[in-house]
Amino acid sequence: MNIQELDREYVAGTYARFPVVITAGKGSLVTDINGKDYIDMTSGIAVNSFGACDEVWYKAICEQAAKIQHMSNLFYTEPCAKLAQMLCERTGMKKVFFSNSGAEANECAVKAARKYAADKKGADYYTVITLKNSFHGRTITMLSATGQDHYHELFRPLTPGFVHAEPDNLDYIKTLADAHKTAAIMIECVQGEGGVVALSEEYVKGVAEFAKENDIVLIVDEVQTGNGRSGQLYSYMNYGIKPDIVSTAKGLAGGLPLGATMLGDKVKDTLQAGDHGSTFGGNPVACAGGVSILRRIDEDLLEGVRKKSKFLFEAFTGAEGIEKVSGMGLMMGLKTVKPAKEVVNACIAEGVLCLTAKDRVRLLPALNIPDDLLAKAADVIKKCCA
Ligand SMILES: *Cc1c(COP(=O)(O)O)cnc(C)c1O
Repeated sequence: MNIQELDREYVAGTYARFPVVITAGKGSLVTDINGKDYIDMTSGIAVNSFGACDEVWYKAICEQAAKIQHMSNLFYTEPCAKLAQMLCERTGMKKVFFSNSGAEANECAVKAARKYAADKKGADYYTVITLKNSFHGRTITMLSATGQDHYHELFRPLTPGFVHAEPDNLDYIKTLADAHKTAAIMIECVQGEGGVVALSEEYVKGVAEFAKENDIVLIVDEVQTGNGRSGQLYSYMNYGIKPDIVSTAKGLAGGLPLGATMLGDKVKDTLQAGDHGSTFGGNPVACAGGVSILRRIDEDLLEGVRKKSKFLFEAFTGAEGIEKVSGMGLMMGLKTVKPAKEVVNACIAEGVLCLTAKDRVRLLPALNIPDDLLAKAADVIKKCCA
């Protein structure tokens, strides 16, 4: 059997994979089993922050793997402590809990928020408000948090205590918060899986203010938007707000599984020994990758992300077959006249890997994609949309 047949025979059929077997990559180019090269506009869904097999990153994780690959959280290790320090210093958050994925980072955020509210207001203050069209992960609880019915239908009963507000409607969320004993509000500043839709500044600021006034924990899910993707280190920084909890994962360790839940002043001491944990969380190899990635997401790199973003917005706005360009930084959605899936298949045939999000073509290139490859990819995408 070839690899595609083997996979279809033995791997659970939860993914509608594209018929491409990727065997290697370097930067923003990846190669398939037949030796065909592709410009990668996906970076493994915003994971490979500096592209495939980036040399600095590769060296950092190999050096750590040669020292010690894992030690359990019952002992101290350097990369975990260092990465937590870097995250706190760059965000003003106070403590970090490490896990392995976005869903887990959000689970920790909700646990911290619920415990805070229970301690402060009473155990009946457990409701978490999220937004319609959001995506927060695949565990039963994060499905419940996710405000899209089609993710729920097959898996009831879901975890109780989640309600969903209409995005960009401040009155709606205030009414909902007043109708429930609310522990937390959790938002993505740019809804990724929901079609790459950025919330308005007025709304995000209004939500943050309302949460503060009412001592409701504000959680920003930066799993996809975080780690430089939006043109700032975290997308909330584009909105001038200060969340109580920030969760992130995807691009944090540049291609290794790592989730982080950053806890601000309000909740920094809420979780105590025994309240939460993870066997793999804070793994030294993943954290060494994280340190190497975060160190390089500096102002120069972010300025580059914003420039590349501007280039893409200008290239696609008004192009034939493209009705709307949405998103922020290097996280972009294209509403196309042709079905998004058809466009993506055509792009792949032409040597450019893209994704979809709902009815949109979704682009998530590496943060350092070279300008010539970006221009080439944009030309192919435009051609396939027309
Ligand atoms: C991908 C994603 C998640 C889930 O992350 P996993 O690592 O797949 O668990 C959660 N929230 C957002 C916004 C995401 O984009």
